[in-house]
Amino acid sequence: RHGGDDGGGTPKTTLEIRYTKLFIDGRFVDAASGKTFETRDPRTGDVIARIAEGDKEDVDLAVKAAREAFDHGEWPRMSGSVRASSSSSQSCKKWLSFFPNGTRTRSTYSDRSMAYLSKMQERGRIMAKYAEGVERHADELAALESLDAGKPLAAARAVDVGECLGILRYFAGAADKIHGETLKMSRQLHGYTLREPLGVAGLIVPWNFPAIMFFSKVSPALAAGCTVVVKPAEQTPLSALFLAHLAKQAGVPDGVINVVTGFGPTAGAAISSHMDIDVVAFTGSTEVGRLIMEASAKSNLKPVALELGGKSPFIVFDDADLDKAVELAIGGNFFNKGEACVAGSRVFVQEGIYDRFEQKLADTMKSWVVGDPFDPRVNQGPQVDKAQYERVLRYIEQGKAEGATVLMGGKPCGKKGYYIEPTIFNNVKDDMVVAREEIFGPVMCLMKFKTVEEAIERANGTRYGLAAGVVTRDIDVANRMARSIRAGVVWVNCYFAMDRSCPFGGRKMSGFGKDDSMHALDKFLAVKAVVTPVHGSPW
Ligand code: ADP
Repeated sequence: RHGGDDGGGTPKTTLEIRYTKLFIDGRFVDAASGKTFETRDPRTGDVIARIAEGDKEDVDLAVKAAREAFDHGEWPRMSGSVRASSSSSQSCKKWLSFFPNGTRTRSTYSDRSMAYLSKMQERGRIMAKYAEGVERHADELAALESLDAGKPLAAARAVDVGECLGILRYFAGAADKIHGETLKMSRQLHGYTLREPLGVAGLIVPWNFPAIMFFSKVSPALAAGCTVVVKPAEQTPLSALFLAHLAKQAGVPDGVINVVTGFGPTAGAAISSHMDIDVVAFTGSTEVGRLIMEASAKSNLKPVALELGGKSPFIVFDDADLDKAVELAIGGNFFNKGEACVAGSRVFVQEGIYDRFEQKLADTMKSWVVGDPFDPRVNQGPQVDKAQYERVLRYIEQGKAEGATVLMGGKPCGKKGYYIEPTIFNNVKDDMVVAREEIFGPVMCLMKFKTVEEAIERANGTRYGLAAGVVTRDIDVANRMARSIRAGVVWVNCYFAMDRSCPFGGRKMSGFGKDDSMHALDKFLAVKAVVTPVHGSPW
């Protein structure tokens, strides 16, 4: 049912949009061309603000600032520690008080150390301070996300802002845990490895979780000691600009974080093909992932990490806890209006439980409310923009034309804005377009299966490999599924269970490289080997 007050959502927020320009070298600036573009409110289609439209020239300026900050600035040279610099000076003082010969040598050494230490601004400490600033502005950040991306405000506050803080704090803590190995290479040679920041990172992010995606890429890059040029999605530029401002407030040095708002084929392409960007991390569609890799191959062969699309299987076995299975299927398909790369959009249900599952699903969805994301009763807001709205509706029509049956939904709703009814298809065949392609909207495909073998075969029958869900009480079935499904994560009796300590990222055409966990640092670090002869070696 549609719960918006006038059926289409009326802006109820008086949120002030403070940051609309590019953020380069610590300052908000207009685009070199002077051009701007509109970001729109998905509840109404009305313009929220005009945003500076960055292009190649602006990316060049941002890369120059990031390059300078990396090559000559403090950021990559700081310690990673979270300790306050005052406490490290104090611990140094304490230590020096035990220094023998407490005369001139000591005081000279001590003064120099003090001067050095008082200037030292550890990366982890600055990132922790950044997190405090984000937390203080949690309500404003949540409102920006709701307004720009159409997320229910409570979810934006709890999930999006909560995750942002979790990610930033995790990597603040990771900054001083980056270390290499020692190698006993042979009798004659001793070696060790250094893990060094790669340099300037280009970070291209999508619109479905704008702030989370910003931090998923920015936090490990900063922890590693890289400097960054971020391009937020043109649909949702507001939070990234606000977060750039908060970074400056927290003491992130100028040039370390730069944000160039603009379009993919212009600003985005300028990043992926830039000769002076050392690594690109991207989240978005598989099609654009391919363009990014091509651009890297045609320019400076910068490494790329790609977190791309999915068509994840969610598999319910006969012995499943029915209530839980239904709840997880709903969350896995309709959370964030289905705008989630990990959406468990192929729902396979074993034949013995199928009818009960379908019935329970339809009953539970009766209380689902679509409407204005600022209304606390609402479960599902509008799709992010007109293009996505039309794309999802095209898929729904295609599903009908291919012979899938609409169990519920199947239409747009609301008098204005980009609202779509949560849609469930049954009688879906594996080869239908709706069962093969990523729809990125509130569309679930229900399919029946008989055996474990069949479930494995069909679950893997996709070019994607991002996530999978399995609901069963049988540990043997759970283990077998977990080992057999080719995906970046298999959730057993849960779904969408993300945590900072858990690596996230796909395989096959869902991409490669991990967000979250200590693995996320790898893409921003180079491993360098240092080798030296040991005493007595013929070298
Ligand atoms: P989605 O399907 O989520 O819209 P896209 O892959 O189209 O994902 O967009 C994700 C991000 O990639 C956005 O920031 C977008 O501007 C950017 N982008 C789109 N096209 C290109 C391109 N040719 N080169 C680089 N970035 C691009």
